[in-house]
Amino acid sequence: MSIDDKLSKVKYNCDNISHLTTNEEKCKNCKTKACTYICPANVWQWNENSNSMHINFENCLECGACRIACEKQCIEWKYPSGNKGVIFKQG
Ligand code: SF4
Ligand code: SF4
Repeated sequence: MSIDDKLSKVKYNCDNISHLTTNEEKCKNCKTKACTYICPANVWQWNENSNSMHINFENCLECGACRIACEKQCIEWKYPSGNKGVIFKQG
């Protein structure tokens, strides 16, 4: 089964505020931008034109990998509030 097939089995109850934040100034000076390739759900997307990070927090699988990989340890990560976020995983 491909990773895309597996991701399609995850159900979300999206929050309307992000449970993920970062420090934009630190991101501008980050050489690896590890979050943009370590995340299995493509949550972190660096925009070269605006020199800023777009965070697709709605897709977050709550695995915690980005927080570990961030070379500047500047990702603020918490679980979505209440019954929001990932609500069901199959297989
Ligand atoms: S790895 Fe951390 S510092 Fe680097 S771009 Fe991602 S969030 Fe910013
Ligand atoms: S917790 Fe996992 S899925 Fe969510 S943004 Fe970080 S790496 Fe991506």
